[in-house]
Amino acid sequence: MTEAAAIDVVLIGAGIMSATLGTFLKELEPSLSISVLEVLSDCALESSGSWNNAGTGHAANCELNYTPQRPDGSVDISKALEVNTEFDLSRQLWAYLVRKGAIADPRDFIHPCPHMSFVWGETNVAFLKARFKAMSANHCYRGMEYSESHAEIGQWAPLIMEGRPADQRVAATRIITGTDVSYGALTHLLFDHLAKQPGVNLSYRHHVRNLKRTDGGRWLIEVEDLQARTVGEITAKFVFIGAGGGALELLQKSNIPEGHGYGGFPVSGIWLRCDAQEVVERHDAKVYGKAAEGSPPMSVPHLDRRVIDGKISLLFGPYAGFTTRFLKHDSLTDLFRSIEPGNIRPMLAVARDNVDLSEYLIGQVLQSKQHQFGILQQFYATASRDEWRLAVAGDRVQIIKPDKDHGGVLEFGTELVGSEDRSLVALLGASPGASTAAFIGLGVLRKCFPDRLTASGWLPKLKEIIPAYGVNLIEDAAACDRIRADTAPVLNRQHLIAARAA
Ligand SMILES: Cc1cc2nc3c(=O)[nH]c(=O)nc-3n(C[C@H](O)[C@H](O)[C@H](O)COP(=O)(O)OP(=O)(O)OC[C@H]3O[C@@H](n4cnc5c(N)ncnc54)[C@H](O)[C@@H]3O)c2cc1C
Repeated sequence: MTEAAAIDVVLIGAGIMSATLGTFLKELEPSLSISVLEVLSDCALESSGSWNNAGTGHAANCELNYTPQRPDGSVDISKALEVNTEFDLSRQLWAYLVRKGAIADPRDFIHPCPHMSFVWGETNVAFLKARFKAMSANHCYRGMEYSESHAEIGQWAPLIMEGRPADQRVAATRIITGTDVSYGALTHLLFDHLAKQPGVNLSYRHHVRNLKRTDGGRWLIEVEDLQARTVGEITAKFVFIGAGGGALELLQKSNIPEGHGYGGFPVSGIWLRCDAQEVVERHDAKVYGKAAEGSPPMSVPHLDRRVIDGKISLLFGPYAGFTTRFLKHDSLTDLFRSIEPGNIRPMLAVARDNVDLSEYLIGQVLQSKQHQFGILQQFYATASRDEWRLAVAGDRVQIIKPDKDHGGVLEFGTELVGSEDRSLVALLGASPGASTAAFIGLGVLRKCFPDRLTASGWLPKLKEIIPAYGVNLIEDAAACDRIRADTAPVLNRQHLIAARAA
């Protein structure tokens, strides 16, 4: 690039979030010119890569951190319901793309996989029972099963019951409509489809070094072509910073006042991975347990069946750890470079208020391999050490944001931080993550393009893509049922239909 090319939309980063937003925008306004700039040599090489995340289609079926217990023993399922119905938005978008032929075969990225929660010990059993009572009463969780029977849980997931003391109190819930999603494969499918369309340009090995607003209101983006070793410029009307762990740095560079004071807290991840077919064939579920005291919510241990590139493996973890890197492929100085005068106070406040978390993460780093394996054995007592190996997961950067009362707070969700004139928005944070990419994409549309989301603008097409757009599926049981019935057969038939009948 030698002179500034003028583009409608620049998407920085080629992960699932840019792929999803780009898909929405191009469907809604086919004439848009879109440029995707990615520093690495392909899409989905960071968090969205299939081995870098757990591939859970997060519908808050099994993740116990979304359902806190109240002091009176009852369980608050409001957050779970939100996540559950956010996943319905992704289901609708994916089903639309399959129906229109943009995704040839859903089995290339999504597989049925029962979602289970599993606990042991009196207190945890009582919690799971109360959680089941609250959830199964809601239409969103119709079909959820509960068991305290060793034999029955052993049928659901044999590995977790083998070698367990017969008198141990255990409990499990199961939803057989859960999914395993290869977000890496999905990102590829979405970008393949986008790249075929006129006006879309995907540039790999292009590093966005800087961005600033021009007098005309457009954004001037400085990009280094790592292959050609040249630096060029692009101007864009609208910029989405979907750079994952790199988003904070670019938000800081954009210098929009809305971004001032934000910081990031990186958490690394390690898996134990098993490819031994005689083992993996005996585990057809994602089994989530209870997080250890002081641990961040995303480090809840789980034993997952994964289907990646047509092969089945098991992943256990993630073991969270302390890192100063914001991206797997980035530099160890990321954390230090992100500190600026505006965010020192929030960052210090978070360090002061989260001693438990820091201790937990440092403790995880210091854990021996034997100790890590010991945690797997709490789930799968007869696991054989030589069938498991360590694998490095993606990094997640949690949001530190300014707070009037505390100076700063640490947040585990995601947040869209955008300029007042709606010309730029950055996605910070990482949870629930890829599963809710459609929800996040719709959030960008609402935040930055409200004048286009009208009956004479994008709304009719958007309702074709997301038939339940604007409908609250937590309240509208009939609509929820209809959407799930509609999308289930399109997104991998048998299992989901059978589950609905259950
Ligand atoms: C251990 C772990 C487990 C997870 N499990 C799940 C799960 O089970 N289910 C789920 O839904 N989600 C899960 N997630 C979260 C999910 O992976 C992320 O939310 C999602 O992949 C983020 O997508 P993204 O597109 O924002 O970022 P990424 O996929 O990280 O993509 C960002 C891209 O931006 C590029 N980039 C960065 N800086 C620049 C720059 N300056 N110029 C050009 N390009 C740049 C990067 O190279 C990268 O390719 C998990 C994450 C981790 C780490």
